[in-house]
Amino acid sequence: MERAEALLLCREKIEEELLSLRERFNNSRLDRKSVQQYEKEDRHNHHVVSHYNNFNGKKKIQDCEDALGRMAKGLFGICINCNNEILSERLIAFPTAKRCVRCQAVHEKKKKGVLN
Ligand SMILES: [Zn+2]
Repeated sequence: MERAEALLLCREKIEEELLSLRERFNNSRLDRKSVQQYEKEDRHNHHVVSHYNNFNGKKKIQDCEDALGRMAKGLFGICINCNNEILSERLIAFPTAKRCVRCQAVHEKKKKGVLN
C-alpha cells in the first residue's frame, strides 16, 4: 500500500472513531492537568469504574484529536521520539500511534518502571 493511501485510510478510521466516541461520551475536553489528576486517582481508586470509563473515552477522543492535529501539521505517522516514519501497517492497525514500535516498547517499559 502507498504511504499516502495508508494515511488517508488512517484519517478515515480516526474520524469514524471520533464520531462514535463523541456520541458515547460528552464532548468536553480534558486539559493535561486533569489527565494527570485522573491518572493519579485511577491508581488509588479501583472502584470508580464508570468514572474511569468516561475518562478513558475522553482520553481516546483526545488521542484522535491529537492525531488529526498532527495530520494537519504534516507530522502524522512520524514517531514523536525518534522522528522516524511509523510503519504503515502499524498505523492502519493503530491509527493514533505516536511512536514507532521500538520507541513504544521502550516507553512501555519505562512506564512499568523496568527501565529508568
Ligand atoms: Zn521511534
